[in-house]
Amino acid sequence: MTIAPFKTIDQLPVRGKRVLIRVDFNTPLTDAGRVADDSRVRMSLPTIRYALSEGCRIILMSHLGRPKGTFNKNLSLKPVAEALSALLNTRVAMAPDCIGPKVEEMARGLKAGEILLLENLRFHPEETANDTDFARSLAELGEVYIEDAFGAVHRAHASVASVPSFFKVKGAGFLLKKEVEVLTHILEAKTGKFALILGGAKVSDKLGILHSLIGKADTILIGGAMAYTFLKAQGIEIGKSLVETDRLDDAKTILEKARAAGSRFLLPEDHIVSAGISADASFHTTDSTAIPLPFIGVDIGPKTIQSYEEQISQAAIIFWNGPMGVFEVPPFSKGTFAIAGAVAASDAQSVVGGGDSVRAIHESGAADKISHISSGGGASLEFLEGKQLPGIQALLST
Ligand code: AMP
Repeated sequence: MTIAPFKTIDQLPVRGKRVLIRVDFNTPLTDAGRVADDSRVRMSLPTIRYALSEGCRIILMSHLGRPKGTFNKNLSLKPVAEALSALLNTRVAMAPDCIGPKVEEMARGLKAGEILLLENLRFHPEETANDTDFARSLAELGEVYIEDAFGAVHRAHASVASVPSFFKVKGAGFLLKKEVEVLTHILEAKTGKFALILGGAKVSDKLGILHSLIGKADTILIGGAMAYTFLKAQGIEIGKSLVETDRLDDAKTILEKARAAGSRFLLPEDHIVSAGISADASFHTTDSTAIPLPFIGVDIGPKTIQSYEEQISQAAIIFWNGPMGVFEVPPFSKGTFAIAGAVAASDAQSVVGGGDSVRAIHESGAADKISHISSGGGASLEFLEGKQLPGIQALLST
């Protein structure tokens, strides 16, 4: 397996140091202000535990939601400090802000093995604006920088892209290392049995990965609303289904590229169609690929499920991002769950990314059968597109 291009925390002189770790604690919260799903917090534990074992003074920083640059008590990271404290069985101090004299005092006062969680970075507009002075203030809190927020490395935000430039000693945590290794392995795979499964709302979000992986993936399975843009591009009737009319030419280009590369590019051959997108709307299965007016395509049909399952069972490598239909509405979630089941049942090296696909995998109880569940939907897509990600680039420069 290719070695990640940066140093990891266990290769750096961190013993006893004040270590500033960018984590991804962007967790869903309940109405009562508690962490609803602590999986992102758990994913950061190996790095935090390693830092504890090295007697580091640990300063954690993250964003949570989209507070748009102002304080919002509903998006405070305080509940995450409590969840982390319970997971580690140790005290996690909560800072009142992420920069400023009080925070500096708390960071400097840390003793070996103590943890301080900074308040939501996005309470300051300078975070998303990638402001240098803001980045410098954050950087002054630590002696070593560790990036472990894979879900944020594709963003050119201050804590990700600029803070590392103030450090000589910097590197990745174990989560970032694992993500980069798994995705690099996919990019460098020599096998001819690579199935790329893409779904979700928009073709436009997936054009980059299609351009990059056609030729590497010999089988491409398309579901979700993005399929209709490809069908319409071929002159097939799609009723009132969601479509990106400004992407029809892009869709044609992709179809031609797949044909030229000799890739198997499969689109739904039947659909679940409905009069509207709600659980109580009537729905039925089409016999063929066309969707007549006035119906809306809401999920892949049974023939498509069977054909996609067959392809998945023959793959040696699978990458899946995006639901096959309107997965949030129970009657239209069958296709997505069927794909989740097929990916879980396969012996392939399987990687799943993206909120809905990951949710489907968890809800189908098959998460432990997936080789790797990526913590970054957008970041994993951009990585596989071959883009240079700001948070990774920042670790490479000196
Ligand atoms: P994305 O964020 O691109 O992964 O898209 C996820 C969204 O795509 C989900 O909210 C789905 O409800 C939506 N989606 C999937 N299939 C369809 C469809 N056939 N019609 C409308 N929306 C869809």
